[in-house]
Formats: sequence, structure tokens, C-alpha cells
Amino acid sequence: MKEPIEVRIDAPEYEKLFNYLFPGDGDEHGAVIVAGIVESDRGTRLLARKVILARDGIDYVPGQRGYRALTAKFVAEVSNYCARENLCYLAVHCHGGKDKVSFSADDIASHERGYPALLDITRGGPVGALVFAKNAVAGDIWTPSGRYQLDRMTIIGANIRQLYPSPRKRSPIANPLYDRHSRLFGDVGQEIFSNLKVGIIGLGGGGSLINEWLSRLGVGHIVAIDFDRVELTNLPRVVGTKSWEGMSWLTQSNIPWLKKLGLRLSPYKVHVARRVAKQANPFIRYDAIIGNIADEQTAKLLVDADFIFLAADSMQSRLVFNALVHQYLIPGIQIGAKVPVDKQTKQVGDIFTATRPVLPHAYGGCLHCHELIPPGRLQQETLSLEEKRNQQYVEDDSIAQPSVITLNVKSAEPAVNIFMMMFAGLHKPEAKLYHQIEFVREHRIEQVEPRANKDCLDCSNSDRSRRGRGDRVRLPCRMAKVT
Ligand SMILES: [Zn+2]
Ligand SMILES: [Zn+2]
Repeated sequence: MKEPIEVRIDAPEYEKLFNYLFPGDGDEHGAVIVAGIVESDRGTRLLARKVILARDGIDYVPGQRGYRALTAKFVAEVSNYCARENLCYLAVHCHGGKDKVSFSADDIASHERGYPALLDITRGGPVGALVFAKNAVAGDIWTPSGRYQLDRMTIIGANIRQLYPSPRKRSPIANPLYDRHSRLFGDVGQEIFSNLKVGIIGLGGGGSLINEWLSRLGVGHIVAIDFDRVELTNLPRVVGTKSWEGMSWLTQSNIPWLKKLGLRLSPYKVHVARRVAKQANPFIRYDAIIGNIADEQTAKLLVDADFIFLAADSMQSRLVFNALVHQYLIPGIQIGAKVPVDKQTKQVGDIFTATRPVLPHAYGGCLHCHELIPPGRLQQETLSLEEKRNQQYVEDDSIAQPSVITLNVKSAEPAVNIFMMMFAGLHKPEAKLYHQIEFVREHRIEQVEPRANKDCLDCSNSDRSRRGRGDRVRLPCRMAKVT
């Protein structure tokens, strides 16, 4: 298994666990976290799907060897559940203390007695144990190929928090370039940004702004995904494009093959974005991906990201983005701007811009639960041009939509500020990350009450949902064409 090993958990589930372990009685309590898993070059993430509390005196009782232990019956029930659902088993208990924690000799001895058998029952697990203090966590993780220590736990809420077995060494002084940032986030904060991997889906008007701001913020690694090339009409909005890159003298030609040549010579949007990012930060790691998030090989590039911005317009990209957020416990934000124009009268309607944070739990802003991925429109997108003609769709997306850079700013700006406050830990505890719609013609901002369906296949904990399952279920990508 690739190290470092991280456990990820959403804030509501962590809060439930924390309140159960530390009710104020100073005693030990127990639970199990059932988790999915994702392995990549960056390490291994165990993705907490559900916390199962062990009832004091019933499931968690005075032990024969240690102070307390989970009963054999409880362990059998939960480990069988993990075997059936193809999930990992992580036993949890607490010790006293605050900022530092480690297993006792009794704890270690009990792992050595029990975990080889649990690995068999759960068909390879991994299985293991976590021990918590109020502000620290340590872990002993078992796999068929070896035993590993937990590096950290990441709690995903309005603020991203990390817990370690003991306080970390002070971070190095940030590059003087970022002096004005460090005065806000501290050197620790600036170091956090430099270690982040952030995905941007769509590098048009909104995405290109996000790209520039993230690279100036000092984000260490950006994965930019877009299949489009720059066109003449993009120049007023796409950050970093140069006037000749629209290839206007060719694309406006009346000679078809010259026009075609122009379209083929113009640069890809992700390559323009990479140039902008490298100018802002020459040390940035930049993956410019010419591709579509609807394809599995492209979507897979984001399974170990720390954050995902969705600035593309299609329903398919919403579908895959929402799945990535929930299946891999990665927070994200969808942005967009809409200028409705009446087809007959040509009158401009209610212009609005949207910034929609999505956190990986129920009531976290799931795009399905907010009815932002209507099945009809999703299906319509997958039809070929010919099929659309046959079904006589009046195609909205074949008609060019109005668009202007200042409206892109309105949806992108709150998104990047939320991202920044989140990782710098600067949101106040009462801050709520609701979907936000700005009606530009009224100067009115509306917060949307969060919604959740109890059997949503993305954000719920129903047995059929993908939440926290990581690599153990497929993403809803389109099937690869058989050649
Ligand atoms: Zn213990
Ligand atoms: Zn949902």
C-alpha cells in the first residue's frame, strides 16, 4: 500500500464520533468506521463512509486483557457487513490527553491477536484501529502485504482540519513572495496551499479566472481539463489569450479549408491556462489535460485531488463531478452564469450567476438533490446530432449564449474565496456553505436551503449509494467506445 496513509471523514460524521467518544465523562468509548479506499501516487486514502457507534456495556465492555474491548458479536456483525459491502474495517476508541495520542501495549497486543483473522473475514480489508485524543489521532492499519501507521486524518467541512498523532514540526518560513499571504494564513497556511492538488474542469471564461487566481495563491498542483481550442469569440473572456490566438484571419475566411486550418491551429484552452499559471508561479506542477471529464480515464486523474472546481456547462460533467465529490470525499464547487434570452422577443430575462459548494455528505449541496442534473437533459446530451434532428429537439446549446467576463467573475470569485477560507481554516464556525445565486439585475443574492433525499445514490448513506466507496465502485462515466 502506498504511503502516506490518510483517513478522510466529513464534518457531520466526525462530529457524531467526537461527541460519542468525548461526552465529558473522561472514560473510554468505542466505535467502528467502515470505509472505502483510494490508492494513487500521492498515497492511500481511507474514506469514512459510516461511523457505527458501539454501545457502552453492550457492544463495548470491560476486557479480559485490556481495559475495554468490543464484544466478539459486535466485531463479527460489523466485519461481516464490511465483507459483504467490500469496505474496510477501522475500530475506534479514545484515550485521555489532548494533542498527542498513541496505542497502549494492550491495544497493540489485541491488534496482533485479532487482525490477521479480520483480514481474512473482510477479504483483505484493509482493517485496523484508530485511537483518538481530543485533538489527535493515531492509527495501526493492516493489509495482507504489511502493517502501516496512519499519517493523518482530514475532516472535510466548511474548514478543512487535519489531525495527527502528535503536533507537527513548525513549517518552514514561506517564500518572501507570499509575505502578504503569510500575514493572513501564516506560514502553515501558505504551505498547505503549496501541497494541494486542485482540479479545474472547464477552462473557458470562469475556469480561466479560477486558474489564474489559484496559481497566484500558490496552489502547488493544478489539473486542468478541457477539450476545446480557443476561438475568436473567447478572446474577450478567456484569461491569457492573445489576439492572434483566435486565428481570426483564418477562421473568418470564406474558404472552407482555410477556416478549418484556423480552427486546427488555434491553441487548446488548457495550454493557454498552463502558460498563465507558469507565469504566476514557475514552480507550479501543471497537468494540462485535453480531454472530457465524462471519460473514465480523464475523471480518474482527479480521484486523489484535494478540491475540484467545475466550470464546464454540460450535464455529464455535473454528473461525474458530483460522483467524484461523494465517492472520493473531495469538496468541490460548481460555478456558472446564465443570461436567459427570450427566443421570440429577444428580451434579456433574469441574469443570474451561481456558486454552488458541494461537500461530501447529506445536505452538503449535492447537485442531484438540488435537481441540477435533470435526467432528461442528461439523456439529451448523449444523443448524436442525427438523433437530435430526428427527435426534433430545438437545441439550446447549438445557439450561442450571451456571455461576458464580469459575469464570470461574479460566480468564480466567491468560489475561490470559499476555497481559500476553507483550507486556511478561516471560516467562522457558524459559516454555512450554501448554494448562492446572484440575480444581477436586482443586485440580490439568494442563499439556497440545502436539500437531501434519503436514498440519493451520491450523498446518502443508503446501501446503494457511492458515498465514500472510492475505487471500489465505478464512476458514472460514459462507456469507452469499442474499436
Ligand atoms: Zn487504548
Ligand atoms: Zn444527493
